[in-house]
Amino acid sequence: MIQPPATLGLLGGGQLGRYFVEAAQGMGYAVWVLDPDPASPAGRVAARHVCQAFDDPDALQALAGACEVITTEFENIPRAAVEWLDAHACLRPGPRALTVAQDRLEEKAFLGEIGVAVAPWQAVPAGLTPEVQTDAGAPDFPAILKTARLGYDGKGQVRLAAAGELPAAHAELGQVDCVLESRVELERELSVLVARTADGATEAFPVAENTHRDGILHLTRVPARAGDEVRERATAIARHVAERLDYQGVLAVEFFLTADGELLVNEIAPRPHNSGHYSLDACTVSQFEQQVRAVCALGLAPALLTAPVAMVNLLGDLWPAGGSPDWRGVLAAGRARLHLYGKAEARPGRKMGHVNVLGLPGEDDATAVASTAETLWQGLASAGGEGEA
Ligand code: ATP
Ligand code: MG
Repeated sequence: MIQPPATLGLLGGGQLGRYFVEAAQGMGYAVWVLDPDPASPAGRVAARHVCQAFDDPDALQALAGACEVITTEFENIPRAAVEWLDAHACLRPGPRALTVAQDRLEEKAFLGEIGVAVAPWQAVPAGLTPEVQTDAGAPDFPAILKTARLGYDGKGQVRLAAAGELPAAHAELGQVDCVLESRVELERELSVLVARTADGATEAFPVAENTHRDGILHLTRVPARAGDEVRERATAIARHVAERLDYQGVLAVEFFLTADGELLVNEIAPRPHNSGHYSLDACTVSQFEQQVRAVCALGLAPALLTAPVAMVNLLGDLWPAGGSPDWRGVLAAGRARLHLYGKAEARPGRKMGHVNVLGLPGEDDATAVASTAETLWQGLASAGGEGEA
């Protein structure tokens, strides 16, 4: 057990890291953040911001020397750095979870090995574009070609209507290693956050229901519109993935729910997740405090919903040129909590903050809060540069 006032290390310094730092510091720890961005949101609130590349040997040495445990808020840490840290420090989650989650080919293969269903897929290796497979289990069309590495928020993806489009799509992505997968007809998208400790204890957060716009998470509502059986199945799959990775920390599992009730895992993230931000205001523990508890082996807290909630993301598109949105509408909505990440520069698609809209304790449906969150977002969108409403 790693007790305060120990120093903890964090790989990555975005908003997920900022919340981890705040949770850990609130519990009496100090946190060192490694991130090459001088304006890193987490670095700015950490006890120390090591502003170096993720594979800088001196930076890794400094982190290993100072921190009793090192965790991550970002999966795309170079493999050699992950392995060095695992050998010279206490890294949680460990290298296996990080390497599986940073490569869609490894991720799909791993999920298949442990008996978890995914959308039909095939590998499209770097270089020469292969034929589209036709055997049973092969992807069909429409399909999506995704880069195996470094994709996020729907970047590095091309949609294909027919097999003949594969060479051009692969060229568009620079002919790097890719995964070709069937486009699933979605009934809903769900996600589950599960925390696990070294002794095998797990604690899952309530299932979240997610809506995307342009490949980026837009709105999360909890409880999800899914029956008990589906929710229990999704939670069991998330626990199974965590167990098979011998996971330590907080793990996110994204699901597709099909019209015939099948649950397919889309992808996993070895860290807290945007779709878990609702836990900051509507759970008995936040995903970030739970991450501190899991990696420090403090014991997990029950993750229970205290009120129905809807979270809506605030992307840079909402920022008028050179200015900032007018927050009065959000602030005046009594059950809305405004969260901003302190990023100086707003760019289209950049996650700048979010709003959690809370229902009343005892209500068991998120329809009203989801519609309030959408209305608040529409108000910002129509006033901002985009005018998408
Ligand atoms: P993020 O980092 O935001 O999770 P990402 O870049 O890793 O995004 P994915 O999660 O693979 O990308 O895809 C983003 C979204 O695109 C999904 O949540 C879903 O809405 C849609 N999508 C991706 N793959 C499929 C598919 N096979 N069938 C249907 N929709 C899909
Ligand atoms: Mg995703």
